[in-house]
Formats: sequence, C-alpha cells, structure tokens
Amino acid sequence: MREKHQCCAHFVNPNGWSRSLVRCSKTGKFERDGFFYCGIHDPVAVKERDAKLDAERKQKFKDFVRSEQLKRAAPDLLDALRKALDVISAMGLPDEVTDNVVAEGRAAVAKAEGRT
Ligand SMILES: [Zn+2]
Repeated sequence: MREKHQCCAHFVNPNGWSRSLVRCSKTGKFERDGFFYCGIHDPVAVKERDAKLDAERKQKFKDFVRSEQLKRAAPDLLDALRKALDVISAMGLPDEVTDNVVAEGRAAVAKAEGRT
C-alpha cells in the first residue's frame, strides 16, 4: 500500500480573523521535487490554470479593443454607407443589380439609426 501524504501547500485562513496560515488538508497526489500536492495546489495544474486564465483575459481585452474600435468607426462607416447608397441609387443601374444591395444597405442604416 502506498504511503499517504498530505498536500504541502499553505494559504491564508479564509475563515479566521487573523491572517494566519493553514495547511491544505487534502491528500497529496502529485509529487514535485520531493513535495506532495493535491490536484488544486499541484504547481503544474496551477501553471496550466494561470495560463488558461491569462489567455482568456488577453482574448477578452482583444475583444474589448476590437469592439471599441468598431464603436469609434461606426459614425464614419454609417456616413460612408449612406453616401455609397446614394451614389449607387443615382447610377441608374438595372434594378436587379442594385435592389438587394441598396435594400440591405438601407436596412443596415435604419438599424444603426434605431428605426427598426
Ligand atoms: Zn492542496
């Protein structure tokens, strides 16, 4: 039978009024450099969780920046679309060529202006 080890990790007592350290009471399942860790405190698992969280934060920040860029460009894009639709409509192209494009463009403008 394998010898049972206690996780060697210590953390600040979450229930205490003082900032005393308590030792993790879980069984140490992973041995790293002679120390035993539970699944939560295993340095390899901690590193993987941290890397995953870091990647998620970076992606959220990228999404936020992209969203802000789009918001800032929206008035210019809307104005450019209105002008382009006016030009297309004034070109006198056959209806079957422009109907869908103009209709979709006008619907997008209406949506952006809150008219739909
Ligand atoms: Zn632990």
